[in-house]
Amino acid sequence: MGRVYNFSAGPAVLPEEVLEEAAAEMLDYAGTGMSVMEMSHRSAAFADIIESAEADLRELLSVPDNYRVLFLQGGASQQFAAVPMNLMKNRVADYIVTGSWAKKAFKEAKLYGDARAIASSEDETFSYIPDCSDLPVSEDADYVYICENNTIYGTKFHTLPNTKGKDLVADVSSCFLSEPVDITKYGVMYGGAQKNIGPAGVVVSVIREDLITDDVLEGTPTMLKWKTQADANSLYNTPPAYGIYICGKVFKWIKRQGGLAAMQERNREKAALLYGFLDESALFRGTVRKEDRSLMNVPFVTGDADLDAEFVAEAKKAGLENLKGHRSVGGMRASIYNAMPKAGVEALVAFMKEFERTHA
Ligand SMILES: *Cc1c(COP(=O)(O)O)cnc(C)c1O
Repeated sequence: MGRVYNFSAGPAVLPEEVLEEAAAEMLDYAGTGMSVMEMSHRSAAFADIIESAEADLRELLSVPDNYRVLFLQGGASQQFAAVPMNLMKNRVADYIVTGSWAKKAFKEAKLYGDARAIASSEDETFSYIPDCSDLPVSEDADYVYICENNTIYGTKFHTLPNTKGKDLVADVSSCFLSEPVDITKYGVMYGGAQKNIGPAGVVVSVIREDLITDDVLEGTPTMLKWKTQADANSLYNTPPAYGIYICGKVFKWIKRQGGLAAMQERNREKAALLYGFLDESALFRGTVRKEDRSLMNVPFVTGDADLDAEFVAEAKKAGLENLKGHRSVGGMRASIYNAMPKAGVEALVAFMKEFERTHA
């Protein structure tokens, strides 16, 4: 069987070129006579892999010198705890709750201090981003937290919140490297790799240097202290070496595509195809307030659960995989990350049109 168009929210589609390169290097990486999976993380070959990955990522994101880039483990969910452990000096933090991942992070922070939900869109099933221009930010808040792109609900902060001078911490798992960003607006930006930048098992954190200190909450595990990882250049213990190697290849692929501005242009084009159709369809409709729509995750419904299930099953037969919506929203969701080619979105829209013609 050939490759399908994989609309999974994560682990998700990777660029075919990257998979082909990895396959070609599987048995013998760059003349070392071994796979990257088999080599010491202290070897010169691996040092080159992780250093190049960091350099390419820094170039893509224009990361200033006073920010560290860490390759960590435990997924984005581990950072839900690491963030308060490393940053909650006053034991107060403000959370903007725009979906399940933000809510999980908020609940985790409550284990360590006074985490406050200063805004939420739960009243309308997280289908919009609240106005964050003048929120009641706590005077003693150690940081303000957002989930920038809500993978499950398909919303995105197109304007960052006014944090009133507090450091912004953002989970960017599902929008990482999808468009240019200004890192200096963030204290911490982190994301699990398996949505847009590589295989599961790696989480990348970009952290302003002054936030990496020994002054962490009592009882913070050595491994979760950012300073441990920063001092060891992400090699305190054995890192997820193969995952980092694939991330590095994805970074190089993005550079070859023209960097983040080019990614953004392609992502806008793909999203416009799908949203454009949803807006004129008599059968399908998007579930998100228009101005808050994500370029990466596009949930939609027919309004009839049986018809939704039929659509997902028939799409699968046509080679359009993983379109079932998250169980908390229902319906469908098409994740159209960087590596989803425009042809995949065109095939999906053509299939939706045909389904509409035969089922409306
Ligand atoms: C998938 C996802 C997570 C969870 O990632 P894990 O690596 O499984 O912990 C957290 N936040 C967002 C926004 C996600 O999309």
